[in-house]
Amino acid sequence: MGWQVMRVPVDFSWPIDKSWFGDELPPIRCELCNGSGMKRSDDPAIRAAECELCEGQGEIFLNIPLPKGDGWQMWETTSATGSASSPVFATPEELARWLSDSSGSEVEGKTLSIVDLLTGESSRFIQWCTSETASYEQWLAVINDDGYACSFVDTKDGFVPGVQHKGDELIARKCDSTPSVEISA
Ligand SMILES: [Zn+2]
Repeated sequence: MGWQVMRVPVDFSWPIDKSWFGDELPPIRCELCNGSGMKRSDDPAIRAAECELCEGQGEIFLNIPLPKGDGWQMWETTSATGSASSPVFATPEELARWLSDSSGSEVEGKTLSIVDLLTGESSRFIQWCTSETASYEQWLAVINDDGYACSFVDTKDGFVPGVQHKGDELIARKCDSTPSVEISA
C-alpha cells in the first residue's frame, strides 16, 4: 500500500476515497483455450503447454485504467489502482501544497496503534498521519520523481511516513548532485 500520483484529466471527477471500479471487474473466461488454461491443438506436445493469453488460468482478469490527462491527483494505492486521496490539480506544486496543508480534522480524536496502521485498519488514519507529517517540499520531491511512496518505512528510528522518508532522500540527492559553482548575483 502506498501513494501514487496519477495523471488524470483536469476535470476528472471520480469521488475521493471510492475504490476505482476498473479494478473490481469479474474475470472472464478465456476463449482462446476454452477456459482450460492449456493450448488448443491436436498435437499432445503443444496441448501440454499453457495458454499464452491467460497464462494457464483459464480466465482473464480485466482492469480499466484511469483516463489520462494533464491533471495531478494523489491516489492511495492498494494491490491495484486504489482510491483518490486528493482533488485534481493543474500543477505538481498545487497538489503538494494541498497535501501538506490538509489537516486531519476528519479523524481527530481517533487513537489507532501502529498495529492498526500496518494491518490497514484505517486508511483514513494513514492519510491523516502522512498528510500531517510530510512537508510541501517532501511531497513535491516525491511528486516530481516517479510519484510513488509507500505508506510507512521501517527505519532504525521507528516507523516513518513513506512520503517524508523518500522526500528527504530525494531532496538530499538533489543537493548532492548540484554542481559546486558559485553563482554571482
Ligand atoms: Zn487461455
